[in-house]
Amino acid sequence: MSSRFVPQLDHALATLEEEAIELTRDLIRIDSVNTGVAATIGDGETRAALFVQARLAEVGIASELLEPRAGRASVIARIPGRNPDRGALVVHAHLDVVPVEGQEWTHPPFGAEVHDGWLYGRGAVDMKNFAGTILATARHFAREGIVPDRDLVLAFLADEEAGGVWGAGWLVENRPDLFAGATEALSEVGGFSIPLVDGRRAYPAATSEKGVAWATLTARGRAGHGSRPTADNPVVRLARAVAAIGEHRFPVVRTAAVDAFLRAYGEARGLSFGDETLEADIDSLGLAAPLIGASLRNTATPTVLEAGGKTNIIPAEASARLDIRVLPGQDDALRDELRAVVGDDVDIRWGRWWSATEADVAAPLLDVLQAAIDAEDPGSLVVPYLLPASTDNKHFARLGIAGYGFVPLRVPDGFDVFGQFHTADERIPVASLAFSARTTERILRDA
Ligand SMILES: [Zn+2]
Repeated sequence: MSSRFVPQLDHALATLEEEAIELTRDLIRIDSVNTGVAATIGDGETRAALFVQARLAEVGIASELLEPRAGRASVIARIPGRNPDRGALVVHAHLDVVPVEGQEWTHPPFGAEVHDGWLYGRGAVDMKNFAGTILATARHFAREGIVPDRDLVLAFLADEEAGGVWGAGWLVENRPDLFAGATEALSEVGGFSIPLVDGRRAYPAATSEKGVAWATLTARGRAGHGSRPTADNPVVRLARAVAAIGEHRFPVVRTAAVDAFLRAYGEARGLSFGDETLEADIDSLGLAAPLIGASLRNTATPTVLEAGGKTNIIPAEASARLDIRVLPGQDDALRDELRAVVGDDVDIRWGRWWSATEADVAAPLLDVLQAAIDAEDPGSLVVPYLLPASTDNKHFARLGIAGYGFVPLRVPDGFDVFGQFHTADERIPVASLAFSARTTERILRDA
């Protein structure tokens, strides 16, 4: 600790909190919707990136803006640490948000309005809140002369919501030098409080993320007239395979992250999470139940069907697309199992395949998260978990960077943070943003 006298420290922390809130609001007001379709994407990400760069420059932090496609910019800044021998920590947040079309919002999605202590807006939790918090923390460090323990690579990224092709993916592919020496990364999704026991809270930290893969099933047969049904109608055979996948349940796999969650959380709550009681124990987790429930198994979900064009013609081909979510180490097992479920008369073509990420559940970084949380919410417990979704951490994993999901947010019991992602009236208590700023400051100083 420095010897600064307390009133000054209080003032500095108050400024940090205030800036984290205001910068988050400023970023929400920049409409940076990523539709995933080039023709309908504006220049919001670049405007957000320029905003970030300007706020860094104000306090003397140099950064690089990279814009591989017009309107699709990311910003990277490196803050040197005291121990250059330690690997750098990449701290990343995406600047894009998902669309709001077709949703009923009580308050304008890009208004960043505050009502009864809640901040409303697209990106309030996903994840302009963390972009604003990282930015505020960097400015706080610069103002107060705070040097973090290790190098921090701050990354404000485009395109996460459409797979990170023009953001993290492009940077990892084309500018790996920006992440030279980095060993770990910190970003979404995790760090929000869930009730534990006796008024204490748990803060799940994602140490692993499911992989994402696509596959196409194709049934082929003889085309013919609808008035003369054939035994090998591809529509019927495809439908059978799709139904079989829909009914299939992959087995529970206790990966390291799932096991760490079940043990740490179970111990604190007196739940055994034994194979026989697993479903009931998970149901008892309340708001966290869907999140944890989805982390136990591989899944394959039929999403798109294509066959025929005319009612009276049997087509020669019918196809279905699958959204696949795969646990760490399960790529081959999932492919074999799916092939067996589908059967021999339907073809499977494997498409884009991002394997799961898996970081150490006993990494010292988790002790830093625990210490920071303990300082701001005494008696709370940081627990590893497996995120059943995918983030930009998958791109950084290609550089050997271990990704963690932890955006510290103490929220009222019963408030479902994960349920806010991509929904109407996305919101967060303003007090949670202040908590987030103080806790993130501790994490980035000591990580
Ligand atoms: Zn996100």
